[in-house]
Amino acid sequence: MLPVMLLPLKGKNVPSGAPCPVRLERETCRSGGIAAEVVVFSLADGTVLRAGVRRSARARRFVLRLSEEGELCLGAPAGLALSGQTTRLASLLPGLERAWRAYCARREASAASRVLPERLSLPVLGRECRVRHGGDWQRGCAAVACGAQPPIRVEDKARRLLLLESGDALTLYGDTETDLAATALRLWCRRQAEGRLPELVRQQAQRCGVAVSRVGVRDQRSRWGSCTRDREGAGRISLNWRAILLPEEDAIFLCLHELCHIRQMNHSPAFRQELARYAADWPLRERRLHDFWRALPWWARPSAGR
Ligand SMILES: [Zn+2]
Repeated sequence: MLPVMLLPLKGKNVPSGAPCPVRLERETCRSGGIAAEVVVFSLADGTVLRAGVRRSARARRFVLRLSEEGELCLGAPAGLALSGQTTRLASLLPGLERAWRAYCARREASAASRVLPERLSLPVLGRECRVRHGGDWQRGCAAVACGAQPPIRVEDKARRLLLLESGDALTLYGDTETDLAATALRLWCRRQAEGRLPELVRQQAQRCGVAVSRVGVRDQRSRWGSCTRDREGAGRISLNWRAILLPEEDAIFLCLHELCHIRQMNHSPAFRQELARYAADWPLRERRLHDFWRALPWWARPSAGR
């Protein structure tokens, strides 16, 4: 799997005797009935942030991560009970306060700059489409009647939007507010991704000489792709639909990364060796994927749309 890099925050000491703004909770998962650990942090301005706990045998200390989407996660050593650790956990607060303020400032700045793209580029398909407004809902319905492609339809209570593809134009009709329009563009891109990415994975699988039993396109919030193996040892690959926005060579590298996991289900030196057979410059390419994720247009980010 290829996770998106997150921001680690190192702990600092806080004066003893201060009230502890950290609380521990247990959440019951809907599916398995397993109680998940949650640490609740209260910031100075009253903001309450909940961090899911991820245990790791390799972890030697607490690491708090705030994702690009504002989700908080606490990495913790396996087997260390959190109940006696609230003071140590509270020492993460100054760093969390700073990171949260920076996140809020970024979010405000991006909300102010939410305009629809004029063009939408899908390099893997060799396509570039113009994005334009076409008029009201009725006009959209009339255009659908003579269009060849099924439209993308987005509704939110009384608001309705149609996205119609015609040649190299994507035309939006109805309520084209940015949140509905973002959802429509995402759905359209996902449709394109489903039509192309599985084929790209299978082409690269042939090149690597590995068997793939299933390729899916999903809306992962924090990773480009993932790989598991079925009972016969064939790969089951899931790619993020956003990969359709990548330059073609980066999309191919993403496929290769996931396919190499069929032979090595980890990120060990053996995995890197396997990957280097197909992409000697893999560190650079992984960096490019990471950078591309951070630079995704606002409407394609996991926090956009509905
Ligand atoms: Zn991986």
